[in-house]
Amino acid sequence: MSSLLCVPIMVDEVHEALAAADAARSLGADLVEFRIDTLFQGEGDDLGIDATVRLVEQSPLPCIVTCRPTWEGGLYDGDDAARIALFERLGAMDRPPRYIDVEHQAFTRSANLRQKVRLAVQHPDQVRDLSTSLILSHHDFDGRPTSLNRTLADMREDDTAAVTKLAWSARSLRDNLELFELLEDRDRPTIALGMGRFGLMSRVLAPKFGGFLTFASLLDTTTTAPGQPTIRDLLTVYRFRSIRPSTRVYGVIGWPVEHSMSPRIHNAGFELVDHDGVYLPMPVPPEWEHFKATVLALVDDPRLDFAGASVTIPHKAHLLRLAREEGWTIESEADRVGAANTLIVSPDDIRVANSDVYGIRLALRHADVDVDGRRAVILGAGGAARAAAVALLDLGAKVAVCNRTLENAKALAGDFDGVEVLPWEDRPGSETQLVINSTPVGMSSADDEAATAASPLEPAHLDALPPTCTVFDTIYNPLETRLLRDAGARGLTTIPGLAMFVHQAAGQFEAWTGIAPERTPTALFERIVSETLA
Ligand code: NAP
Repeated sequence: MSSLLCVPIMVDEVHEALAAADAARSLGADLVEFRIDTLFQGEGDDLGIDATVRLVEQSPLPCIVTCRPTWEGGLYDGDDAARIALFERLGAMDRPPRYIDVEHQAFTRSANLRQKVRLAVQHPDQVRDLSTSLILSHHDFDGRPTSLNRTLADMREDDTAAVTKLAWSARSLRDNLELFELLEDRDRPTIALGMGRFGLMSRVLAPKFGGFLTFASLLDTTTTAPGQPTIRDLLTVYRFRSIRPSTRVYGVIGWPVEHSMSPRIHNAGFELVDHDGVYLPMPVPPEWEHFKATVLALVDDPRLDFAGASVTIPHKAHLLRLAREEGWTIESEADRVGAANTLIVSPDDIRVANSDVYGIRLALRHADVDVDGRRAVILGAGGAARAAAVALLDLGAKVAVCNRTLENAKALAGDFDGVEVLPWEDRPGSETQLVINSTPVGMSSADDEAATAASPLEPAHLDALPPTCTVFDTIYNPLETRLLRDAGARGLTTIPGLAMFVHQAAGQFEAWTGIAPERTPTALFERIVSETLA
């Protein structure tokens, strides 16, 4: 059976919760979880009981009813006996909830409570005819439970629960692998989820490992646990319904990666060419040790079917270093640039590549810009500048590098034969036929609203360029930078960073799917990024 999709709803008002449940149904949810933590206030709250009964009766989808106490991360601060009495009442309804959720800690603490729960739910020795089942749950918001094995053994000893649920705050991507192990070793339907930014993988890949269900919020603002995706993203970006045991796993490794465009374009591309893969954001903290430990864990896990990744800031040099340490195949462009942005994992080979070089080359070709024998000036001396140097040298250009810190420009020039160094004050002049901006100047920034008003070239620099010069900005957010606007206003040919981004992504897509370059959905990639950033 494939994994169910459940939308949790924190209930304040019954009619609002029912409207949210209806919206969840129309978006494609299978179940809703009514969190009645504050709707029901404990013993003597007859209004709360009536409201919960109405909620369950009128729910447009099968539901889970949960009244999570404060000591397990919820908001209910009444006593256990009162909420279990409510569950008994719900269990006896004509149309009862499909599940009630009770914490393992409450269940084991009191034999009396255990007995009462057994009277409210379906289990092998039940005396009454009931159709509500028990989800026995354990949450840990501090990290992996220290007593995980004992808790699990304990949960499995009792046959009352139809479903077991384990959720903890994932501290790294590696925690997902342990959650998948729990799913594979299950003795009954099991939910195993990682909370927080590192846990998204466990939520999306539940169907790959036979997870009973995953939770997705109705809106960005209505999550009931950290790291929960929205139902829209789960269904449309990650294509939850098409994930199956054979699905190969890809991702973008970086820090931060939450706002990366790559999951949107690669997942849409996989769908278009019918590739059985899913592509996820994979946050890995900046340090080399984190990168190495995580990538090796992903590559070495036989169950995950990890097939590749885009690797971005700050890990491009780390990927090349790891490939050298591990003896993986290094494509010559990655070696020459000194950084890699693509990892390709196949059963008999692990390869790293640098598709930024390819992206620059194709962006120039599609704009019909011939640089052979012509002067090209690269602004910046970082990773993108190095990729530009390799691409331009291969195309026969006369390359100069111009950077704010002269030493860094000299270091770049020292690594490539025939690259001239220009001081930052002497930015390109009348001989220049191509300028590539490889600095972040003009890029949109969450911390600085004025950032997009900046340009690495002053009007006087642009005025000095010949009318035949092309200005290429590697920045793709915003889609049209101030530099491109200013250059366009002077009649110069411009190439936006979007062209490079789309073609470097196409290079990765081709390497992973084996698809011919002419079949790569670059137009689809371009449309998605343009629509998202517009
Ligand atoms: P990086 O390695 O950090 O290098 C940044 C370079 O920009 C350095 O040489 C730095 O000079 C210079 N710089 C930074 N701030 C500056 C400022 N305020 N004024 C002048 N120079 C400045 O970064 P990267 O990985 O090369 O990325 C650079 C840009 O390329 C990014 O902003 C990104 O938008 C773009 N990019 C685009 C794509 C694409 O697919 N379209 C792919 C990769 C990168 P110093 O040496 O003085 O520090």
